[in-house]
Amino acid sequence: MSDLLTRYEDVRQRISTAVNQNCDLKPPKLLAVSKKHAVDKIKQLAEAGQRDFGESYAQEAVEKIIQLQDWSLIWHFIGPIQSNKTKLIAENFQWVHSVDRLKVLKLLNKHRPGNQGAINVLLQLKVGNETSKSGASYEDIISLAHSAEQFDNICFRGLMCIPPPSEDFHTQCAYFQSAKTVFDELVKRFSSVDTLSMGMSNDLEAAIAQGTNLVRIGTDIFGRRDH
Ligand SMILES: *Cc1c(COP(=O)(O)O)cnc(C)c1O
Repeated sequence: MSDLLTRYEDVRQRISTAVNQNCDLKPPKLLAVSKKHAVDKIKQLAEAGQRDFGESYAQEAVEKIIQLQDWSLIWHFIGPIQSNKTKLIAENFQWVHSVDRLKVLKLLNKHRPGNQGAINVLLQLKVGNETSKSGASYEDIISLAHSAEQFDNICFRGLMCIPPPSEDFHTQCAYFQSAKTVFDELVKRFSSVDTLSMGMSNDLEAAIAQGTNLVRIGTDIFGRRDH
């Protein structure tokens, strides 16, 4: 087996171990974050059965999506969104995880081609007292969610979060727990909500312990990214 497939199997094993340690959990969906990695590696994983891939840079992603269009993969945009990239994103991705302002929501709705069906949107929640620019507050999330519901070309599916980095399991869990609380509230209020995207290479166990249903794994599957 190639290094890539060995690492992929290791990640799948870590996910099932974490799921088994928490009774009553369904396994989360695994999103393979392929940004800065070559099309060949994506093909290897697709052959091993991986369907969902995450990308952070619109232009780079679209080149790969075009090369891989015969593979019927599911593409998720997870990076910061510039307004001038919303058309490219709306035309090429099935999911967007990183929406945190009304302007972007409006532009995605406007640019989504009618024949492609609604684009699946997660709102990015700011968690922790981070200085990070991305992510919306709880109050903003509620108001964005109401707007999302009004747009015909948007399907509001839930939340994404990227907590401040921490090596401490309990700190990681506290961040994820706060996101899970907001998610549970949204599930009660909005019938289309079913997806909580949290957990990366360094904190997937904590995210699973707190009830994530989609983990986004880059480094531990693909190895280090070249910059
Ligand atoms: C790059 C990235 C990931 C993957 O992170 P790793 O630590 O490499 O697993 C997950 N989510 C987002 C939003 C990213 O930008």
